[in-house]
Amino acid sequence: ESQLNPNYNFDNFVEGDSNRLARSAGMAVANKPGGTSFNPLLIYGGVGLGKTHLAHAIGVDIKDKYPDKTVLYISSEKFTQQFIDSVKSNTRNDFIHFYQMIDVLIIDDVQFLSGKAGTQDVFFHIFNHLHQNGKQVILTSDKAPVDMQDIEQRLLSRFKWGLSAELQNPDYETRISILQKKLFRDGVEMPEDIVEYIAKNVKTNVRELEGVIISMIAQASFNRREFTLDLARQIVDKFVKNTKKEVSIDYIQKVVSKYFDMDVATLQSKTRKRHVVQARQLAMYFAKRMTKSSLASIGSQIGQRDHATVLHACKTVDNLTETDKQFRKYVEDLTKKLTF
Ligand code: ADP
Ligand code: MG
Repeated sequence: ESQLNPNYNFDNFVEGDSNRLARSAGMAVANKPGGTSFNPLLIYGGVGLGKTHLAHAIGVDIKDKYPDKTVLYISSEKFTQQFIDSVKSNTRNDFIHFYQMIDVLIIDDVQFLSGKAGTQDVFFHIFNHLHQNGKQVILTSDKAPVDMQDIEQRLLSRFKWGLSAELQNPDYETRISILQKKLFRDGVEMPEDIVEYIAKNVKTNVRELEGVIISMIAQASFNRREFTLDLARQIVDKFVKNTKKEVSIDYIQKVVSKYFDMDVATLQSKTRKRHVVQARQLAMYFAKRMTKSSLASIGSQIGQRDHATVLHACKTVDNLTETDKQFRKYVEDLTKKLTF
């Protein structure tokens, strides 16, 4: 049993700027498992960005091209549990032997190996054996190897041998494509302006995008309602609110100024230097998005500005996010920092 989920494949993994490197590295590995320098291939990124999907897609594709190869997908938790059980039942060697026989080993969410010395040790030996024998290892993690904690150094250095490819938050175009693909798959027609509204407002991850679509379809069919912008608004509001942690305006200013390497006093100052203005506008934008404060109150807390200034800041950030790639990166990075 490979434990692979055929519903997660390359065909339905929408390509975009945010995942291009990881996706093409995955395809290269699938074409020549164990035969590229991407060994291990480590796919990392935040929650709901497609790590598990991509990991399965690689395995599914390999099984297609090389039916004789043994491919195994396993979560780190399950791997750990199996190891613990094997120790209890005195079958540790069988456990190791089983894993050393696999041609393509896919381990999901290796951050869960943190602090588990015994499991890390056994994985180290399995990894070495597979690697020396030209077998392919594919790993996923919520962090890059440099940021992983409580993982043994010798294992971390193995993780860095191949390629670490990041899955980033999907940009607007990719979000639109993902929504269209899901709707098409479900045979649902949704007006374009509603799709755009969802893509504009649900920015953090793909799982949330899917969640909104599922709720929309359920609501519309259950209550025999049309897809309206109003329904989209209600559902998006719920999603965006439920998933965001309440943050204070103080906290937002701290995070934004730290990100731009300035202090809060500079961010609040009257200076018109471009990078300071941008930082200030971003702080206002996030305060509007993530707190219940009024425009006036946000303005007074961020350097004594009035509500019109805050409104202007929010519009500027919205515009720049759609037109300026570098700026979009700021918004994405800061969203991550503020929401997770
Ligand atoms: P992660 O493992 O990073 O938390 P998942 O792989 O579980 O994320 O992805 C969350 C959901 O989003 C899944 O249903 C997955 O199919 C979907 N998804 C993620 N990225 C894409 C993509 N590029 N195209 C289509 N669906 C995607
Ligand atoms: Mg996952």
